[in-house]
Amino acid sequence: MYQPIIGLEIHLQPKTKSKMFCGCDAAYFGSKPNTHTCPVCLGLPGALPVPNREAIEKCIKLALALNCTISEESKFDRKNYFYPDLPKGYQISQYDEPIGRGGFVEADVDRDAKRFRITRVHAEEDTGKSLHQGDKTLLDFNKSGVPLLEIVTEPDFTSSEEVEAFAKRLRQIVRYCGISDADMEKGQMRFELNISLSQHANELPDYKIEVKNIGSISVLKRVIEFEIKRQSGLLEKGEKLTQETRGLKDMTGETLSQRTKETSADYRYFPEPDIPKMVFDSGLIEKIKAEIPELPQEKKWRYVDEYKLDPDTVEVLVANRSLLAFFDEMAKGNNELIVEATKWLVGDLRRLTKAHGVKLEDSKVKPEHLIELVSLLNEGKIKSAIAKEVLTKVFETGKSPIDIVEEYSMTVIENSDELEEVVKKVIDANPKIVDDYKKNPNAAQFLLGQVMKETKGQADPLVVKELLGEILE
Ligand SMILES: [Zn+2]
Repeated sequence: MYQPIIGLEIHLQPKTKSKMFCGCDAAYFGSKPNTHTCPVCLGLPGALPVPNREAIEKCIKLALALNCTISEESKFDRKNYFYPDLPKGYQISQYDEPIGRGGFVEADVDRDAKRFRITRVHAEEDTGKSLHQGDKTLLDFNKSGVPLLEIVTEPDFTSSEEVEAFAKRLRQIVRYCGISDADMEKGQMRFELNISLSQHANELPDYKIEVKNIGSISVLKRVIEFEIKRQSGLLEKGEKLTQETRGLKDMTGETLSQRTKETSADYRYFPEPDIPKMVFDSGLIEKIKAEIPELPQEKKWRYVDEYKLDPDTVEVLVANRSLLAFFDEMAKGNNELIVEATKWLVGDLRRLTKAHGVKLEDSKVKPEHLIELVSLLNEGKIKSAIAKEVLTKVFETGKSPIDIVEEYSMTVIENSDELEEVVKKVIDANPKIVDDYKKNPNAAQFLLGQVMKETKGQADPLVVKELLGEILE
C-alpha cells in the first residue's frame, strides 16, 4: 500500500481597493481588458512600486488567524522568470523573510479534529493573463499587480478528505476575518498541490508532482484521486517517478505533464531594491489581533458544548453565514427549544428556501417562528406532519405559526366523539379490510392510515389505534 503525502499552496486575493504596488483598482474581474493598468503594473521602465498597506495588514491578519508567528522585520524579493504576462521579467514576492511563519489550521475529518501545519504566509503580486485565440496570444494586464496572499502548508495531508476539510475551513477563516471573499469563480482562491506516494511508513519519497492553478475544491479533490491512481499504477509497474509540474487537462481532475520543476535557484531571488524593509511593531500586531473574531473551528465546538447540538449540524451552521445569523437570533434565550428548532432550520426551512430560490435572510420565516413551531409541537397542540404544513404556510404568508394553526384549524383533534365518528365512518367504508382484520390484525394499519388521512393528520395515532381496537373487537 502506498501512503499519499500531500502539501498545498494557496493563493488568496485579499479585499483591497487598489493593487499591490500601484493605485489601480484591484476589482478587475469582468472588466474590459487592459483598463486597470498604469506604468507600475505594466512594468514600464522607471516606474516605482509602493506597497499597499491594506494588503500587508490583511496578510498579518491572515498569518495571525492561522496561528503563525509574525516576523518583526519582513522584506520583498524579486522572483525572476520570463513569462509573456509578467512584463517586468520578475514577480515581487517574499523569499526568506515572509510576514508569517509556523502556524496551523485545525479542521475536522470524520468528526476528529486534525491539525495541519502552516509553513509560511507571505504577500506578493499576481501576474497578467494570457488568452490564446487560435495561433494568436492576447495579453490582459488587469490582473497584473493585484495583491495575493500565499499560504504554504507542510506536507501533512494523506487523503483528499483531509485536503477538503482543510480547504473549507481555511475559506471560512478568511471570510470570517474579512480578509478575502475567497470567491473561487472570480479566481480569488486558487490551489497548488504537491503530491507523492510513499512506499514505507514515515519515509519521504524522493520526488514531488506539482499541479498548479486549481480553482475549485471539488476539482482539487478529483486531482488528488487521479494522481494517487496514476502514480500508484506507475510505481506498481516498477517505474521511477521524477520531479514534475503537471497541468489540469479539464475539470475531471486528469493532469498532463507540462515541464520539469524549477528549483528556487532557477528564480535567482534577490531583495527588491525599490522597497525598504518593513518593520512591524507590537502595537500594530496587537491591534490587528484584536480584530479577529471567533473562528469557525472554535465556534463549532463551543456551540456543540453550549447548545448540545450534533457536530455535523453545527458544521452546516458555521459554513453558512445566513444560517449562522438565523441560528444566533433563534438561540437568544431559547436554550431548551434550540436543538429541535435547529433541526427545522437546517432541514425543512433550508429545503423550502432552496426550492423557492429565496435567500434565508429574505424569507418570511423569522427565527421566533421556528421557536413557536417547536413550542406548539412540544405542547402536543400539533403533530409533526401538520408542523411541516404550518411551516410552509408561514413561509408563504409570514404569519406566525399560532395564527396559521388557528386560521386553518390544524390543532390535534382532542374531542373523542368527533374522532370516534371518523373511525366508524372509515370502518363502514372498508368492509373487506375489516374482514381481513379478523384473520390478520395488521390490516388495522390500513384503517389507521385512512383515519389519519380523513383528519388531515390532526388525530393522535395512538388514540386512533385504541379506538379502532375497541370498535372492531
Ligand atoms: Zn497599476
